[in-house]
Amino acid sequence: MTQIRHFVLWGADNDGYWTPDLKNDALCCPLCSCKLSRAIENPGFRLKKRHYDLSATYDGFTVASAKFLALLEAVAPDSFDATELHANLRDGVRHWKLEFKRMLPLDLARARPVFGPRCDRCGRHTHVSGAIDYFVEGDAVPQQGLFRTDLEFGSGFEQGPILLAGVQTAQRLAQAGLKGLTLDPVAA
Ligand SMILES: [Zn+2]
Repeated sequence: MTQIRHFVLWGADNDGYWTPDLKNDALCCPLCSCKLSRAIENPGFRLKKRHYDLSATYDGFTVASAKFLALLEAVAPDSFDATELHANLRDGVRHWKLEFKRMLPLDLARARPVFGPRCDRCGRHTHVSGAIDYFVEGDAVPQQGLFRTDLEFGSGFEQGPILLAGVQTAQRLAQAGLKGLTLDPVAA
């Protein structure tokens, strides 16, 4: 039987962008468009696809339903910050933007991500792609918990981290019947 090392966790595409203004030089580099920080506020954000428990914006932010948030608080407490989307509240249905705090370093030699050129202005890679199975250093995804890669993948302002779930946590999530959740196993 194949041993599973960890799972890569994906939220369904929610057809939205969290970054409110790409032309704001304080948020995004004017040359390559990379986000200068992930601490971006967007109090007017409205979620287009409200039926998912777990979804992702095109620019690498995760959105959770109340069901997913409650489950996360049980299986991976203290691993994320949640910001409620107040402008999005309708019919009592609430959603939150999540930011994952527990970062695992990618094993660059094994994962072999492809780095685009560095931007002359902000020094960031203009794109990062192509990692293999998101191997982390020392195969160190703990059995329990939810983590993000230190590297962010994608092009320009769409770059975002990859989410990794430990095996036990992934099983709990899979059993919950969450809409929008995909778990890709990574074999040991
Ligand atoms: Zn730049």
